[in-house]
Amino acid sequence: MSVNHQPRPAVSVTTNACKLCTPLGACLAFRGIEGTVPLLHGSQGCSTYIRRYIISHFKEPIDVASSNFSESSAIFGGGVNLATALQNVTAQYHPELIAVASTCLSETIGDDVPLFIRQYRREHPERPPEIIHVSTPSYRGTHMDGFHAAVRAAVDELAEAGAPERRINLFPGLVSPADLRHLKEIMADFGVDYTLLPDYSETLDGEIWQEYQKIAPGGTPLAAIRRTGRAMASFEFSGTIAAEHSTGNLLKERFGISYLQTAMPIGVRACDQFFTKLAEVSGNPIPDCYRKERGRLVDSYVDGHKYIFGKRAVLYGEEDLVVSLAGFLAEIGVIPVLCASGGESGRLAEAVQAAAPEVADRITVRDGADFMDIAELAEKLQPDLIVGNSKGYPLARKLQIPLIRVGFPIHDRLGGQRLLHLGYRGTQALFDRIVNAVIERQQDASPVGYSYM
Ligand code: SF4
Repeated sequence: MSVNHQPRPAVSVTTNACKLCTPLGACLAFRGIEGTVPLLHGSQGCSTYIRRYIISHFKEPIDVASSNFSESSAIFGGGVNLATALQNVTAQYHPELIAVASTCLSETIGDDVPLFIRQYRREHPERPPEIIHVSTPSYRGTHMDGFHAAVRAAVDELAEAGAPERRINLFPGLVSPADLRHLKEIMADFGVDYTLLPDYSETLDGEIWQEYQKIAPGGTPLAAIRRTGRAMASFEFSGTIAAEHSTGNLLKERFGISYLQTAMPIGVRACDQFFTKLAEVSGNPIPDCYRKERGRLVDSYVDGHKYIFGKRAVLYGEEDLVVSLAGFLAEIGVIPVLCASGGESGRLAEAVQAAAPEVADRITVRDGADFMDIAELAEKLQPDLIVGNSKGYPLARKLQIPLIRVGFPIHDRLGGQRLLHLGYRGTQALFDRIVNAVIERQQDASPVGYSYM
């Protein structure tokens, strides 16, 4: 069995890309570190776009500072601007960490940001905040590349060696705040200490404030990131990340920490793998409440099977999410006839095949895709439903089929940040949504309505 891998044909334009800009992903990850202000080294428009985009999904305030390039910085370099920005952010926010991400412009003119930061540290020997840097040219990667690079940069800069601790590192990738809260609950139920990085479960989905807070409370403490170098194992949810971009692999090479790269735990199969590994590593049995959740999930698969078996889905989004959802859809009897992503890791086809072997010969995989490609392929493949972020709405409307909103961004609904996907519980929520969307579509399309199905 093999997937039909269709690389994007050479084109001179992209129409409505199925990816977001690289520093946007870095900013998302940096928002999950306590006391941190992300700072974009480039022009103001980049930070405005990124703030606007993130706010539209999370409905939370997010400050992204900018070194505010002008024409002269584009010509003579942005070193002076960056020093001023670091000073202003320090004075106004009193952050624990300033996380600098480069933009297309500063990368194109070749600014040496690490050198600027070294100079700044020399000129400011008073205790400055920690400063980390990540290179995120947006013409070379997606928001997921920026996200992974930001997590890796934080660990690269802060992780320390020391006496081994009974502790687990968990690098979940881009999941929802609700997913992060559930992961924390799972780790607590297993009775094991952990570092979850990033953790924007509070910073991007917090409580109402009486007064505006310059830096939202929450996030992974810097002390916990330092301890990643002393953990007993790292879990990284990714089906496509390369060793040189992987934080788990960095810790393995530098500190000898055991590294488990697993798909996001969506679906019984992937959850079983994750929970079994967690039990092995922690030395504690799987708590009974998860055994019961699993049982209820399998029972619901039996109940819902007749509505969805053999349905055809178009699936798109970040590569890691697409891989995990393809495995889940195959498991519930839905064929993910198109698995598309704007990412270009070169690993998507192989990872989809491994995740969904039972239907691999019926899957078309397209990486480097835009929404024009997805629409063209969808017209041919005649899907029954679409699974992806809210950018698929025009296609779903055109094809008159349901869109199951998952991932990021969800701009046209409230609560995208509270959607749970991970674990048996998240899978249950996703399964119910899919089955009910299919039933609803049948009801809506019926000329005579229905009485009992
Ligand atoms: S110029 Fe580059 S970094 Fe800035 S918003 Fe556009 S794609 Fe992102």
